[in-house]
Amino acid sequence: MSRFFSARHNKLVPYTPGEQPRQMKSYIKLNTNESPFPPSAKAQAYAAEAAKNMQLYCDPTAKKLTQAVADRLGVDFDEVLLTNGSDEILNFAFLAFCDETHPAVFANITYGFYPVFAALNSIPYEEIPLKSDFTIDVNDYIGIGKTIVIANPNAPTGIALPKAEIEKIIESNPDNVVIVDEAYVDFGGESCVDLIHKYDNLLVTQTFSKSRSMAGARLGFGVGCKALIADLNTIKYSTNPYNVNAMTQAAGLGCIEDDEYNMQNCKTIIENRDYTTKALRELGFTVLGSKTNFVLAKHPGIDGKTLYLKLKDAGILVRHFDKKEISDFNRITIGTKAQMESLISETKRILEGN
Ligand code: PMP
Repeated sequence: MSRFFSARHNKLVPYTPGEQPRQMKSYIKLNTNESPFPPSAKAQAYAAEAAKNMQLYCDPTAKKLTQAVADRLGVDFDEVLLTNGSDEILNFAFLAFCDETHPAVFANITYGFYPVFAALNSIPYEEIPLKSDFTIDVNDYIGIGKTIVIANPNAPTGIALPKAEIEKIIESNPDNVVIVDEAYVDFGGESCVDLIHKYDNLLVTQTFSKSRSMAGARLGFGVGCKALIADLNTIKYSTNPYNVNAMTQAAGLGCIEDDEYNMQNCKTIIENRDYTTKALRELGFTVLGSKTNFVLAKHPGIDGKTLYLKLKDAGILVRHFDKKEISDFNRITIGTKAQMESLISETKRILEGN
């Protein structure tokens, strides 16, 4: 740390992204919940075309893509804000809707970036423990009077709450914003997007990183009533008006035009998830019921860290978290059927001590 680093930030513990190996050894990469499938053909073609004009600034309003996303969701243009990944809309939301009098609240086991956004923006926050079965107790959030952040489905558990339960939380906190992070909703969760017309305190965030195979392009968005989106635009135009670059705007448009391809890939991932869950359970694993493109699994015969390291030695990367409540587990991204078959056979070999 330099002697110039502001005292406001010098105790920050930043978010640690999953490993992104760049060395020659080619891993089966099941550690950061990416799609194993390439982006759609139109997404690639449109991005390549847009690259020809990158001497120009991009459209700060991302008009075409915003309209396409709005149409896809059945909402209005000014009910959507596109961002550089959904991490950016989440950070904007912490900045816009949390402060000393509106502290943040989220589960103790959830997306690890929430406490970092809170700390970065000097926002007090509370973490509410999940139940012993790793589900959220909705009663904990009823009328809590804080800015609520809920990942639904949750990560890294993969467990989804029914929409009706989320609605109870939104309804009981009319004077606080409820941020529902739907990064994984396309793999079997129930979206709350249509509730934005019923509740002015609901912000839903989604991403093109998982179900739409665009993690590297960085595209996410928030959906909420016009006033919430206007507030978030104030933050955006005070931070980086050109937050979604020209190639990504073009790729996003192609991706939406090809959305059948993406939704077909989601179906395949769900099938591969069912296969993986069953095969791991047959090997003696406890696997939480997932509505995402990953599963959280533990085995009574081997601790989480050891299994992670042995799989890594075998060329398979999964994600292990040191957090004590889940340190027995590994989070395994669902890839192609062939990748999951390799995971199962290597895991079997490790368990047999070979
Ligand atoms: N929310 C959750 C729950 C996530 O797991 C992630 C991915 N790390 C994100 C948001 C952010 O994803 P992105 O910035 O790629 O949209």
